[in-house]
Amino acid sequence: MKILVSDFDGTITRRDFYALLAERYVPASAPDYFAEYRAGRLSHFDAMAAYFAHAPTDEASLEALLRDTEPDPGFGQAAARLAAAGWELVIVSAGCRWYIDRILQAHGVQAAVHANPGRIVPGRGLVLERPVASPFFAPDVGIDKAAVTRDALARGEVVAFAGDGPPDVEPARLVPAPRRFARGFLAEELRRRGEGFRWYHRWPEVVEALL
Ligand SMILES: [Mg+2]
Repeated sequence: MKILVSDFDGTITRRDFYALLAERYVPASAPDYFAEYRAGRLSHFDAMAAYFAHAPTDEASLEALLRDTEPDPGFGQAAARLAAAGWELVIVSAGCRWYIDRILQAHGVQAAVHANPGRIVPGRGLVLERPVASPFFAPDVGIDKAAVTRDALARGEVVAFAGDGPPDVEPARLVPAPRRFARGFLAEELRRRGEGFRWYHRWPEVVEALL
């Protein structure tokens, strides 16, 4: 079995859902939750939950947000090619599966998704929940991406990883460099550590490189 473990925000989409919320809905007076997380004062989960609490709850605004995350236009086709070539797609996210599921559905993509559950609640935004029943649960991020990747390595002969953010550093290092795909922060961090990786500009390039 061949398995591609992929991050979602900033990897399959161009923009992170939380970053769009920060730009459009989080008041300037609110703390910079991501900076608080990077400084170690807030867990990744709590930072995400803080952003998501500012999400609008009307359908039109939510639709606009989903569109503006800019899922790669070739996502559906690339995922279909991957599946046809016998690859399993496993999506890992420290974000929320509420928008991941909607975007996957819109693009006709079926994949295993490991992410934090959440629901839209009027007056409370997108309420993030800890995936306590998941075998990959980790309190600080919700889903331990390295644990998901280790599970893939135990199940599959060939495992690739694609990502872009800080929670992707550890899982990316578990796979061999030729199957380690990075852009953004992840690429910079791997370069800083002198670790090999393959840079991608768009998610379908990861698929092309693997097939
Ligand atoms: Mg990401």
